[in-house]
This record gives sequence, structure tokens and C-alpha cells, in this order.
Amino acid sequence: MNFLSAVDIHKAFSPGTSVLRGVDLDVAEGEIVCLLGPSGCGKTTLLRIVAGLEQADQGVVLLRGQDLGQVPVHKRHFGLMFQEFALFPHKTVGENVAFGLRMMGWSPQKIDTRVKEMLELVALSGYEDRSVFELSGGERQRTALARSLAPEPLLLMLDEPLGSLDRTLREELMNELRMILKRVGVTALYVTHDQQEAFAIADRVVVMNQGLIEQIGRPEQVYNSPQTLFVAHFLGFSNLLPAIVTLDTSPMADTPIGAFRLPHPVQRGMYTLLIRPEAVDLVGYDDSRKAGGRLSGRLVTRSFRGSIYHIALEIVGKDGPHLMRFDIPVRLWRDAGVPVPEVGNSIDLYVDSEQLLLLPPE
Ligand code: ATP
Repeated sequence: MNFLSAVDIHKAFSPGTSVLRGVDLDVAEGEIVCLLGPSGCGKTTLLRIVAGLEQADQGVVLLRGQDLGQVPVHKRHFGLMFQEFALFPHKTVGENVAFGLRMMGWSPQKIDTRVKEMLELVALSGYEDRSVFELSGGERQRTALARSLAPEPLLLMLDEPLGSLDRTLREELMNELRMILKRVGVTALYVTHDQQEAFAIADRVVVMNQGLIEQIGRPEQVYNSPQTLFVAHFLGFSNLLPAIVTLDTSPMADTPIGAFRLPHPVQRGMYTLLIRPEAVDLVGYDDSRKAGGRLSGRLVTRSFRGSIYHIALEIVGKDGPHLMRFDIPVRLWRDAGVPVPEVGNSIDLYVDSEQLLLLPPE
């Protein structure tokens, strides 16, 4: 039996505008599941329905098989880290973390021990008497996390917990957050619109679009095999080309910028071909490599990013110009012994057929 299940959840706030249109989701005990999708796709609404803060029009939420329909929010024993439940500004860090424990009637001594334990967990040992006003953004989020985890919730629900932090702090905290959640072993449902954050934190990612689930999988699976055009676009993939597959045994995908050999047999038909940003090698680097095809074009941008160059090349296809974007390891440029083309010059690339992916047609 699943730990948590949401079955066929529907919700509309006004007639004719459905926010959730039949969502099914299972979460295993101890699992971190991230709901990922653009603003307005229904992530928060789904979270609030699971929390009991909102009622579904149709469908059920089950915890270990028990229907939560009649169980009020405070009896679900879920931890909520939502923006609307901000820290109490006039209480100290310690009082904030102790809050839920007081409500549950824990003894002062037990509360003291637990607060210490929680602050240690979030690397804020010794902060008990600090005022919330004296905390940095990151410390506030750690305190909020300690407060939500202190009563040992059955399920922890987090809604954009890092949303208010700047990029650097966010990156730092996202790695730490996963470590903390895993150390505690809590089951967590985590809402974000940031794919990097979802990938860093989740055991499984649930990509949502307009009230429906588009894809569920481990972060690596979702990144390596986006199953729909929406997911590919949402993850930032841009090399998407209309393709016709002609032979099904040794299949070739015919696109406006050339034909590519596909790695596996596939049915004939119309598709969209995704060429991953890391799919290319420089011609002249290792010409013995088995390639799915070749791309030649004019280098439009070359942007150095430390270990990689982001490049864009313009390829004039049968239907006009296409801008293709790739990431090329700097090591490869160096090892290749071929001069790095300057912007405006032509460039020749091999395409690794293993990095080609077919998606449904546009
Ligand atoms: P965001 O990241 O912007 O919060 P989201 O994916 O979490 O987006 P929801 O907050 O679930 O999306 O909102 C989905 C849609 O439902 C939005 O169009 C929103 O305006 C609408 N909505 C949410 N709550 C209510 C409400 N209480 N009354 C009316 N409409 C609502």
C-alpha cells in the first residue's frame, strides 16, 4: 500500500476554469516528491488539498489507505512550510521551533531537548534566544524548517520554501535541505517552479501542466527522457525539430536540417526530434566515433562558462534558418587541437545518435 495517495483529484474555483483536472499521485514512505511546473499549473492547489486547507470537488486523499476527507487540518499531523505560515516575528528562534510542541502539550524539558536537536539539525545551534529579526533569509528558512520538523510530522509539505532567497543562497540551501530531509527520513511533498531545485531535492519529480500531470520520474529519468514537448520546453531544451521517420529497422529521422541515424528501432511516422545540448562533438576531435549525423553552420554565439562553452549555430535548413544550441566541454576544445572557431565562422559538429530523442509531433 502507498503511504500517501491522491486519487483523481479535480478542483475548479469557478465554473468552467478547472485548476486540477484528474490528478493521481502516489508517494512512498520516506520519499521526497517535488511538484514542478509553471506558475498557475495547480501545484499549490494540489498541496493545499492534501494538507486539508482546500477541498477537492472530486477525488480522495488517502494516508496509509485511510480517506482523509473528514480529517481536519490539525488532526492530519502534517508539517506545513508555506509562506502564509511565516515565522512568528515577535518570538525567538527557540520559541518558534517550540511552538508546535507546546500545542501538543510536551513537557518543557522535552521541548528544550527537541529544540536543541532541531537547531543542531539545521546548523543553527546556539540560536535559541535570537530574535527572528536578527536572522538572514537563509537562517529564517532553516528556522522554519526546524519548526515544521520538530513535531515529527507524518508528512512535510513545502511550498516554494527557497523562493524568497537569492540564487547563491538557494543553491547552497537546496543541497542542504535534501540532506536534512533524508537524515530525518520524513516523507515530503515539495512545490517549486524551479527545475534545478526540483532535481536537487527530489527522489521523484512530478511535472504538472494546466491541472494535469505530464510526467513522473526520477530527476535523471525526466531530464534524460522528457516524454512530451511541454516537458522538453519546460526543462529548457531548445533543439526541437519536426522529424519524419522513414524506416523502422535502421531508422533515420529526416529533419529540415538533415537526416540523423536513430539509436533504436522505432515506428515510422511524424515526430519531434530533440537533440540534447551535450549531443555534439567537434569534427576533427575523434573522427572514429560513430555518429548519428553531422551539423554544419555559422557560429552565432560562443559563451565561456568555466567547464563548458555555450554555443549557438545557425543552420540554414530546407525551411529557413534554425538556431541550434549546444554545450561543449572546454576540455574537448583543448584536446581537439583544432582552433576554436570565432563567432561568425563556420563550424562542423558530429551528433551522437545516443543523444537523440523522439517526442510526439508538434
Ligand atoms: P504558483 O507557482 O504561481 O503558485 P501554482 O502552480 O502553485 O502556481 P496554484 O496556486 O495552484 O498554481 O493556482 C492555480 C490556479 O488557480 C491559478 O490560476 C490561481 O489563480 C487559481 N487559484 C488558486 N487559488 C484560488 C482561490 N482560492 N480562488 C480562486 N482561484 C484560485
